Amino acid sequence: MGHIKRSLDLKEAKEGIALSILVKAGAVVCCEYCDEYVNNQDDEALKIAYAIANKMVSEKNSDVELFEGNRKELTDCIKSVYADVAWECHCEIEMNK
Ligand SMILES: [Zn+2]
Repeated sequence: MGHIKRSLDLKEAKEGIALSILVKAGAVVCCEYCDEYVNNQDDEALKIAYAIANKMVSEKNSDVELFEGNRKELTDCIKSVYADVAWECHCEIEMNK
């Protein structure tokens, strides 16, 4: 059990790093009203996120040390987090009702 929990925490921590890179690149935006993360549907920004990630790995940035220099794992994680972020935040959904 303990081991499963630890690896889940690690997965969450890695997803948090991927999300922060996506936000930095503008591929994911945080709604100023409901604080939810929304997919900006901007493939150019996604490419910028990959570039930022690669640069961070090259620089051995401590923010990405959990990935232990594994570029592919980091970019795969960014890709999956990007795909999982909602296209509409809570208030947009409410507005469109
Ligand atoms: Zn919102």
